[in-house]
Amino acid sequence: MSSAASRPLVPETFQTRVVAARMLGPRVRHLTFERTDGQPFVFDAGQWVQLIFPLQDEKGRAIRRSYSVASAPDSSPRFELAVTKVEAGPGSTFLHDVAVGTSLDVKGPAGTFTRPLESAAPSLFIATGTGVAPFRGMVRQALAAGRTEPLWLLFGVRAPDELLFGDELTALAAQHPNFRFLPSLSRPPADWTGRDGYVQTHVKALWSELTATHPNAHAYICGVKKMLLATREVLRTELGVDRKQVHLEAYD
Ligand SMILES: Cc1cc2nc3c(=O)[nH]c(=O)nc-3n(C[C@H](O)[C@H](O)[C@H](O)COP(=O)(O)OP(=O)(O)OC[C@H]3O[C@@H](n4cnc5c(N)ncnc54)[C@H](O)[C@@H]3O)c2cc1C
Repeated sequence: MSSAASRPLVPETFQTRVVAARMLGPRVRHLTFERTDGQPFVFDAGQWVQLIFPLQDEKGRAIRRSYSVASAPDSSPRFELAVTKVEAGPGSTFLHDVAVGTSLDVKGPAGTFTRPLESAAPSLFIATGTGVAPFRGMVRQALAAGRTEPLWLLFGVRAPDELLFGDELTALAAQHPNFRFLPSLSRPPADWTGRDGYVQTHVKALWSELTATHPNAHAYICGVKKMLLATREVLRTELGVDRKQVHLEAYD
């Protein structure tokens, strides 16, 4: 359901408090924020927020970084983020060290990497690392709304301990036959029996399988540019998919 009607036209800046934090994998921290004014945080699944850090760049300006919302809209003042720690990166290091209870200014929501529920097409979601964040929100929202179109999530990481939200996504797939959780490991352990290699090596087969019965399917790709460009190349150049059916969100 689109919530644009109840949202200010210009993203607002509001104060939040960190209310929960836990490690999701060796380099990823899951943070829950809550608006301190108690107002609902209104957004569409897939959108991002900008965090305004109490840190300054060399020109004395507050450092700001964007993060996809990893939770589904639920009309509460809360939202969740999943943050990869980047070596010597000020924003991600701050978020990995920040204590529960800390206040932080946030601007948002923003972004058009969304999937309107009422017109939702069968979808192949493709992510690496924390690129899974917007898809967790989209999938949880769609399944909670009783949607039955195919929702396939191809998720690439190096090793099993990096499969963010892996148990939750596996459980959702077991409960909802239209949702397929398709992890692929680039450095699989010897006993791994699932997909391996980079996500782009699986896109052709999965897209062909999905569009054999659902030619109106859309592909959503999220993560770092290197993966994004390689995956878009497969879809647009090798498979000739229309650009209106391919949606991208780049983190770098
Ligand atoms: C629309 C949007 C949504 C984003 N959503 C998320 C998100 O949900 N989770 C998240 O962790 N990051 C996300 N990012 C990236 C985030 O905004 C920051 O760039 C990141 O946290 C690094 O900031 P930094 O200050 O620590 O390091 P910086 O010094 O600003 O960045 C150092 C380098 O890190 C690389 N980098 C940025 N993000 C990643 C990443 N996720 N994995 C590996 N390398 C990266 C970039 O190439 C950059 O050159 C998003 C970016 C955009 C534009």
